[in-house]
Amino acid sequence: MDAETGRGRHSVRTLKKIVGVRIPNEAASKLWDIAIADEKIASIQPHDSAFDASAPDVLDGANRLIAPSLCHAHIHLDKCFLLQDPKYSDLQIQSGDFNEAMEMTGEAKSRFDEEDLLRRGRLLIEESIQFGVTAMRAFVEVDGVVQLKCLHAGLRLKDDYRDRCEVQICAFAQLPLFSGQDGGAEVRTLMTVAAAEEGVEVLGSTPYVDDDDSKSKENVRWITRLALARKKHLDLHLDYFLEQDKQPLVWDVLDIVKELEWPKSGQLKIALGHCTRRVASVATKYWRPTCFLCRLAHVGPFHDAYSRRPTWNTTGPGANQTARSECGPFNKQYW
Ligand SMILES: [Zn+2]
Repeated sequence: MDAETGRGRHSVRTLKKIVGVRIPNEAASKLWDIAIADEKIASIQPHDSAFDASAPDVLDGANRLIAPSLCHAHIHLDKCFLLQDPKYSDLQIQSGDFNEAMEMTGEAKSRFDEEDLLRRGRLLIEESIQFGVTAMRAFVEVDGVVQLKCLHAGLRLKDDYRDRCEVQICAFAQLPLFSGQDGGAEVRTLMTVAAAEEGVEVLGSTPYVDDDDSKSKENVRWITRLALARKKHLDLHLDYFLEQDKQPLVWDVLDIVKELEWPKSGQLKIALGHCTRRVASVATKYWRPTCFLCRLAHVGPFHDAYSRRPTWNTTGPGANQTARSECGPFNKQYW
């Protein structure tokens, strides 16, 4: 809508009015006219059926619903469309478990190159825009396998689409930060480099892939410190398991971010993904008088901290089956 300003590379006509639309939270039988001034909504009035909707600066909504655009809160920009891509056609799911997902991800990642990452990433962003998405938190992995390839492709896509979709890049350590042959040293070095990139707005890690609780906590502490030092938001893949007798890490995360005085960081936010133990927390010894969402709210700037995953992930029938592949790279839905 900015042909006059010329700011967009995909400009269309400048609109002053959208007429004959339905709007959320109003009766479906009611139609409305929306006036636009300075690229903002100036007024919303009951539809005037006598109004001439044929003018070039008027869009006839034709009884359609108009609603705010959508946001992908969590997508993996580098791992999308692998199942459909001929380059990865030999990598097909057999057992569907977590270990297989990690192995196949590793194999797929070893084949990533710039052309491939940009092509699949563009497909994802274009498809998202088609469905009304104008903002997304996009995870790009950083480790010894892909080095900074995914990050650089993500930053390029962020720039390419800046006029049509806000692609917020999360540099993401899917692999351990304190385990493995080198004790996670290479991943930590690469994440430190990634964190220095201005275009990176979020840092993320996966504490549950480290070898034990102690190392998982180290993971959380290290990535939280780095996020604070570089003034980035934080996004953790947390508690990706359903075993009843295993303690969730979320309480330690809360303790660590409090200890590191995250609330003093100002406007920086923390998001927690997976949290598959949430569904079981009321029935086990790990239940606490207030749910962790309430506790998050009490820690500081966490009012929108919890990146909600699909309901079926933790609460639907067959949660065990869906949870195991929920963040695998081979799901078309990018989770
Ligand atoms: Zn994920």
